Amino acid sequence: VRALTFEEGIAKLQEDMPEPTRGPQQAIVRPVVMGICDTDLQIMQGYSGFSGVLGHEFVGVVVDGPQEWMGQRVVADINFACGACPTCLAGDVHHCPQRTVMGIVQAHGAFAERVAVPVSNLLRVPDHVSDQDAVFTEPLAAAFEILEQVNIDDSMTTLVIGDGKLGSLCAQVLATTGATVVLWGHHQHKIDRIAKRGIQGALEPTWTGRPFDVVVEATGSKAGLQAAINAVRPRGTVVLKSTVAGAHELSLAPIVIDELRLVGSRCGPFDKALAALSDGDIDVASLIDAVYPLSDGLKALDHARRSGVMKVLLRC
Ligand SMILES: [Zn+2]
Ligand SMILES: [Zn+2]
Repeated sequence: VRALTFEEGIAKLQEDMPEPTRGPQQAIVRPVVMGICDTDLQIMQGYSGFSGVLGHEFVGVVVDGPQEWMGQRVVADINFACGACPTCLAGDVHHCPQRTVMGIVQAHGAFAERVAVPVSNLLRVPDHVSDQDAVFTEPLAAAFEILEQVNIDDSMTTLVIGDGKLGSLCAQVLATTGATVVLWGHHQHKIDRIAKRGIQGALEPTWTGRPFDVVVEATGSKAGLQAAINAVRPRGTVVLKSTVAGAHELSLAPIVIDELRLVGSRCGPFDKALAALSDGDIDVASLIDAVYPLSDGLKALDHARRSGVMKVLLRC
């Protein structure tokens, strides 16, 4: 099958990858639309040491598996947990120490004509949710994880630093709580895309009044964490969304002095993301910059890498 892989430090379009075989608890899915994520770009810079088929954002159709799943349009949780260890039995499958992660840790990804996925990870996509919306389920779930971790209500002020794909989704998710949301980024054209959703855009750190109750760091750069610490109020919460390869160098003293809460945040609830897309609560269409066929996957990766570009999709 055709697949976009990353091996020995090089991204390649392969025409002759072996057909994936499915284990007893797995289904074979034919991806229809796939999304290129910053994580994919980071993997190509050495993050996670991955080699194999890239990609973890997709919507597809089950072509082999249990009868009740055949022909279903699905998305899938990308954490493939063992289901049997103490962590899994406690219900925390996203942190299974034996987990593999689709297209990120020791499991082939979705930038391929077919991919194997555990049946327990599949979610049906409602008919009225388009492929181009459904493909955002995974990054949107990651944004919804913030609401699983931090109580946010309409009395609170929040700041999202970073106007990229994830920052834009985080800002929209925060806005569903009724909280005040400011999105701080460097690109007017990106901020304009979602400012219409009741989110205030800021090109400079010039907000007045109290610092924010909650600051979400979604810059994908090392400078973001420092900026977040500078913008949060004493006893406020900083949510870290960037998985930047490399080490940070910053003083931790303000975290102690101001008694800040620092919350790492990764994958989230797929069901809530899908429900929000189904209800039309989140605008993802305006984040799409380009769609390429899988056969032009290398061109698509180049496009996604350009500065200022939001979501680039692949189609199969
Ligand atoms: Zn992603
Ligand atoms: Zn486990």
